[in-house]
Amino acid sequence: METINRLESEVRGYVRSFPKVFSTGKANWLTAEDGTQYLDFFSGAGAINYGHNDDVMKKALLDYIESDGITHGLDMATDAKIRFLETFEDVIMKPRGMDYKIQFPGPTGTNAVEAALKIARKVKGRDRVLFFTNAYHGMTLGALAVTGNASKRAGAGVCLCHSSPVPFSGYFGPDRDTADDLRMLLENSSSGYEKPAAIIVETVQGEGGINVADFDWLKKIETLCRDHDMLLIVDDIQAGVGRTGPFFSFEPAGISPDIITVSKSLSGYGTPLAITMIKPEYDIWEPGEHNGTFRGFNHAFITAIAALEHYWKDDKLEKNVLRMSDRIKERLDGIISQTGFKAEVRGRGFFIGIDCEQHELADEIAAECFKHHLILETAGADDNVIKVMPPLISPDDDIEKGLDTLEQAIHTVLD
Ligand code: PMP
Repeated sequence: METINRLESEVRGYVRSFPKVFSTGKANWLTAEDGTQYLDFFSGAGAINYGHNDDVMKKALLDYIESDGITHGLDMATDAKIRFLETFEDVIMKPRGMDYKIQFPGPTGTNAVEAALKIARKVKGRDRVLFFTNAYHGMTLGALAVTGNASKRAGAGVCLCHSSPVPFSGYFGPDRDTADDLRMLLENSSSGYEKPAAIIVETVQGEGGINVADFDWLKKIETLCRDHDMLLIVDDIQAGVGRTGPFFSFEPAGISPDIITVSKSLSGYGTPLAITMIKPEYDIWEPGEHNGTFRGFNHAFITAIAALEHYWKDDKLEKNVLRMSDRIKERLDGIISQTGFKAEVRGRGFFIGIDCEQHELADEIAAECFKHHLILETAGADDNVIKVMPPLISPDDDIEKGLDTLEQAIHTVLD
């Protein structure tokens, strides 16, 4: 590795062990410097949901650059920003009956989480935020303080004084409802629970190992928030923008979060863009309370507009993802029962995990897949879950081809 990437800090995490230098990408394929092609089952951890170098977005961006469109607009109103906001309202919010103020909190997901935590604390005048076991919300100190995987926090000097972990949906197995446990904790005065300002939750924990929250459980968490005067923050940074099928992952649960964080595939083209969506009554920022230089990158607005208009004006993409999701899960279940491999398949949409229980197995299977030109990554508390996350636009044949490779890899590793 050292010879390939000598100058980059070891802190880089994802796909670090892949001994290749990549040059180009098209749709669901990546090409390495030596011309070899790799099938993408990772989608930049959810940042490339529409595939690499989508033609519609590329053209929109090239036209914008060609016309000397503003790149960095600071807080000025640019026509790209206004067009993005209006497109987001027309294509995403209005059809769903949603009413939110949109904040540009900084370039990446973790900035959106920081803004969400800060505004919730300000609104409620309280500090404590509840988060869930195995949650992942980002790498800045506030977001890391509500990240459940202890190894992610280790050594980073994180203060947990204003955040408390509570068990996620299914944490103690299918027979115990952890939302009821949480209610008991909040309502039992001897539990010593200081009243929280908010609960932050992912509907499907991505980095935590594709742990899927039950829709009823999410509904109960929402009710708990209403009963206990807490704001509900849904972090849809990885599960959102169609990864589970619908644009927002929480739509099928029928909940209405007070704050929503969206990033990763929002810009559609891999260019950084993050938003914090805040119910209008909670948009009480004073000027300067949460700003930064790179908020609202106009190139990202341009590709985001093209993505929203091209992919979300109808429900074709969502339907296709849901259809193929069933097929992927069915095939993975088949492979697992055929090999007698002790593993569990779980997930929604194209956000599927194979829990191999052991880190070594997951790692070996991912490495074997890479040898056969399939890119996928691992997640989970112990990196024990193989993530199956193809771009949402992947043709059926390519998905089958990737699953063939995965099947072969499982056989090779287990034999
Ligand atoms: N929240 C969730 C649910 C995520 O999956 C991630 C990124 N993996 C983040 C927040 C942080 O986003 P970023 O890496 O863009 O800061």
